[in-house]
Order: sequence, then C-alpha cells, then structure tokens
Amino acid sequence: PPDVEVLGRGTWTLLHSIAASYPESPSTSQQSDLLSFVKLFSKLYPCWVCAEDFRTYIGREVPRVESRDDFGKWLCGAHNDVNRKLGKPEFDCSRWQERWRTGWKD
Ligand code: FAD
Repeated sequence: PPDVEVLGRGTWTLLHSIAASYPESPSTSQQSDLLSFVKLFSKLYPCWVCAEDFRTYIGREVPRVESRDDFGKWLCGAHNDVNRKLGKPEFDCSRWQERWRTGWKD
C-alpha cells in the first residue's frame, strides 16, 4: 500500500474537495449520505491508527453536515487535530474555501 504520507495527502485532497462540492443547502438525504460516508470512511481508511484516532475525533466532535461551510469547517478542524498531533502548523479554517474551492485572493 502507499505510505501514510502519500495516502494522507491524496485523501485530504479528496475529502476537502467533497466539502467544496457539497451543496450550500443540502437536502436531508444529502446530509445523511455525507454523514454515512464519513462514518464508513472512518472504518475503512487503510491506516488503522489514523482511522482509530479519526473515529475518536468523530465521537468528540460530531460531523457537521448542515451546509457546505459547516462541513468544510468541521473537516478543517479534524485535519487540524491531525496537524497538531504530527507537529504541523494549524490551518486558519476561515480560509478553507480559498484553499479548496475558490482559490486564494492574494
Ligand atoms: P497534509 O496534512 O496532507 O495536507 C495537504 C494540504 O492540505 C496542505 O498542504 C494544506 O494546503 C492543506 N491543509 C492543511 N491543513 C488543513 C486544514 N486543517 N484544513 C484544510 N486544508 C488544510 N498521518 C500520521 O502520521 N498519523 C496519523 O494518525 C494520521 N492520521 C490521519 C487521518 C486522516 C483522516 C487522514 C486523511 C490523514 C492522516 N494522516 C496521518 C496523514 C497526515 O494528515 C498527512 O496527510 C501527511 O502527514 C502528509 O502531510 P502534508 O504535510 O503533505 O500535508
């Protein structure tokens, strides 16, 4: 399998891209699909220690799927939790759409 870093970079790209394409006003079925996806992802992610910590995070911080910005900010918080654990800089979650959806303005 790919190493934990290559897998991680590709997976964060996928997850933040899913947030970026999620509707601003999702239907209840879109909300329940996203919640199911996050929970299944946390069981299937092929870095087991990563997945276990991610499940713990989900238990502490319930995924917010009510809107694109709610989910994007929740996911940013989950990514920051891993950043802290690995000693990486924290990302300013007010700017997640600039990084993953609209492009930087400066
Ligand atoms: P990454 O952390 O992969 O980030 C990619 C890009 O995302 C960055 O360059 C930046 O532009 C942007 N970014 C950074 N932070 C945020 C944020 N908070 N919100 C939005 N965008 C952001 N690795 C381990 O060693 N141990 C673990 O327990 C572990 N758990 C993981 C759990 C999950 C669910 C995932 C998806 C990955 C996990 N990883 C873990 C991998 C780790 O998070 C990194 O992906 C890997 O170390 C490569 O880091 P990177 O510096 O290339 O940037």
